Amino acid sequence: MAEGPDAVLGTSPLMIILADHLARSRPVTIFEERPVVGGAWSQLAVGNRRISSKTNILVPLGLDEEPVMARINALLLDRFGIEAIPSPDQIRMLSSYSPQNRFHYDLQPLFASLVDMDRLVTMHVSHVIADMGSVEVGGHRFARMYLPYFAGVEGIAVDGKLLPTPFSEVVSEHLLLILDGEIADGALYCEDFNEVFDRVQIKNRPGEIIFTGRVARAHKGRALEWLTAQAVGLFPGASVLHATIDKYRNFHRNEEQLATLQAAVDAAPQLYLVNTGQFVAGFKSLLPLLQDEVVHG
Ligand SMILES: Cc1cc2nc3c(=O)[nH]c(=O)nc-3n(C[C@H](O)[C@H](O)[C@H](O)COP(=O)(O)OP(=O)(O)OC[C@H]3O[C@@H](n4cnc5c(N)ncnc54)[C@H](O)[C@@H]3O)c2cc1C
Repeated sequence: MAEGPDAVLGTSPLMIILADHLARSRPVTIFEERPVVGGAWSQLAVGNRRISSKTNILVPLGLDEEPVMARINALLLDRFGIEAIPSPDQIRMLSSYSPQNRFHYDLQPLFASLVDMDRLVTMHVSHVIADMGSVEVGGHRFARMYLPYFAGVEGIAVDGKLLPTPFSEVVSEHLLLILDGEIADGALYCEDFNEVFDRVQIKNRPGEIIFTGRVARAHKGRALEWLTAQAVGLFPGASVLHATIDKYRNFHRNEEQLATLQAAVDAAPQLYLVNTGQFVAGFKSLLPLLQDEVVHG
């Protein structure tokens, strides 16, 4: 591949992995509008720790994705020092598929890798201009630009023609609770939990329980005290050490909007759309690009 500089939009895990890969052979600039990196996987600061505040899980969603886990684990360890710890957790997914290769990961080093990068630019990218064989973003020129599925980019101008790339803003709400105590049943990830929390993750740590519950649509906007009261009853005898509501604004695209974005990206050879819909499937699609380095580097 020709030399950069390259631009990457956003800091969700796959985009960080991609930026890290590209940066091994060329200058890379990452555009991120938020002060906190990680996108839909971003963490909250609680005391001197950073804790995952959303119900994130990195698992294969089909038999064809199972072999990809070994590749993911090797890359996370090699590039970021992140270990994959085999997970005995209970898991209840909406799909009938039951993931076999399941691990715990602490993605903090992935996010922390950006702190040392002087290539992270904090700004909102409303439009991308692709012309003269390169890309202009925020007044800078790049050889290529990589966009994720849920980029809040309103339009792409290709050789003077503006192609709108619409999305819908969706705010997801998660209750994060830290409680003292331990649970006998061990950890759980469940996609069909109850009427208030449709998706729940419960982690057992020495002396504490971490509960993350995605608030069901009908209960979005409820007060912290009300949501906490709904969750705390699940852990008799435990008391709440910390409670927060995490609201995450996501630039969601449905299939039609994704197809529109893909068509706009396809109109300019210097633009690439990265499949970030699900971690493992997205990683699988990125593999040819990540292997590029093994072949050429
Ligand atoms: C709450 C939530 C939880 C999820 N959990 C999982 C999970 O556990 N497992 C899984 O496989 N998938 C999960 N998904 C699916 C998820 O969409 C992907 O895993 C992935 O994070 C999507 O990556 P993305 O970069 O497209 O979007 P995001 O993760 O939303 O990240 C986009 C990033 O780019 C920044 N950004 C966007 N637009 C602009 C702009 N115009 N200018 C500057 N910065 C911009 C945002 O601030 C953000 O940091 C989840 C999705 C959501 C919404």
